Amino acid sequence: MTANLLGLDHEGLKAFCVGLGEKPYRAKQLMRWIHQAGVDDFGAMSDVSKSLRERLAQSAAIVPPVVMRDTTAADGTRKWLLDVGTGNAIESVFIPEANRGTLCISSQAGCALECSFCSTGKQGFNRNLKVEEIIGQLWWASRSLKSHNAPAGSARTAQSAASGSSDGEGEVERPISNVVMMGMGEPLANFDNVVTAMRLMLDDHAYGLSRRRVTLSTAGLVPGIDRLREELPVSLAVSLHAPNDALRDELVPINRKYPIRELMAACLRYIDKAPRKYVMFEYVMLAGVNDGVAQARELVALVKDVPCKVNLIPFNPFPGIQYERSSAEAIDRFRDVVAQAGLVATVRRTRGDDIDAACGQLAGRVQDKTKRVKRRQDKQEALAQ
Ligand code: SAH
Repeated sequence: MTANLLGLDHEGLKAFCVGLGEKPYRAKQLMRWIHQAGVDDFGAMSDVSKSLRERLAQSAAIVPPVVMRDTTAADGTRKWLLDVGTGNAIESVFIPEANRGTLCISSQAGCALECSFCSTGKQGFNRNLKVEEIIGQLWWASRSLKSHNAPAGSARTAQSAASGSSDGEGEVERPISNVVMMGMGEPLANFDNVVTAMRLMLDDHAYGLSRRRVTLSTAGLVPGIDRLREELPVSLAVSLHAPNDALRDELVPINRKYPIRELMAACLRYIDKAPRKYVMFEYVMLAGVNDGVAQARELVALVKDVPCKVNLIPFNPFPGIQYERSSAEAIDRFRDVVAQAGLVATVRRTRGDDIDAACGQLAGRVQDKTKRVKRRQDKQEALAQ
């Protein structure tokens, strides 16, 4: 069987090298070629002996997901549609800003959580992504951005990247400075694969990102938050979206299993070990649903004991959805109430919506295994008759 080396972290690659009768340090060398130089051909690994290159070619491969579409929005946001087989495709999005570049990564083909306002949730669920499919999104994006965006002469060459040498930490050399697990899927529902992929993001021989610059966003899987705290505490974002259980049960149905009180307790436990000493609460702004002044006050009271920042996300509509985006005035009013209570409140700028790359618009292509989509269609047909 051919091993896909793209999906192995340092430990995995060491075991693989030892299995070939090689020294474990080869793992670092391979990681630098694969993840820093973006090489998918063993023949290009010029500091690896010819005999090892040949043995690698026989027993292993470096296979990223296949890019089906690569689109750039008017504001520079870029979206890749990646084929992950059997009729499923996932999306990742690069968001360039003046002082940083953020890649938003998917963790599942579809999502099983069915948040009422999210287009991925409406598509149903097929499967967890494998490690190589998760890290493959960063691999592709890093490679494409290096070849397209770097001004001539400023990019690191494959050779210098692979040998670890660099003349400075310029942003141009590393177009992706931040990764957010905020694409399709619930990352904590694919815990092991997501953690292994994040280990590669943090590894100095791979992408070398700091734990502060890797953010995992969850709809609130309490046991997963606790496990993450033990295994790989990165920056944490929590999709709160409502200030009480009655409304959150409706918007984020996983709340019926892990209600707000338990979620807040898990956030407090997490902060102890987190690289940032606060949790980012995400709050989608739905007109007339969760955006009133009274709800802002309720939110302030709810989070008063949890060190946090609040990130308001203007709702991004998609076909067939009953919600509307809150008005700019409602969003400002809500933010002011939260800010006046002494909390940091920001409004997420909508990026890339002309190519459906904004929050909640990532749809890819999902062969729904849960039959949820079929049941909904049957119901709609029955109602229409
Ligand atoms: N399952 C994880 C990761 C998804 S992150 C989570 O729930 O956190 C994507 C973020 O965008 C979440 O905060 C999600 O609630 C939000 N979102 C989903 N649909 C949206 C939409 N249509 N408009 C704006 N934000 C949306």
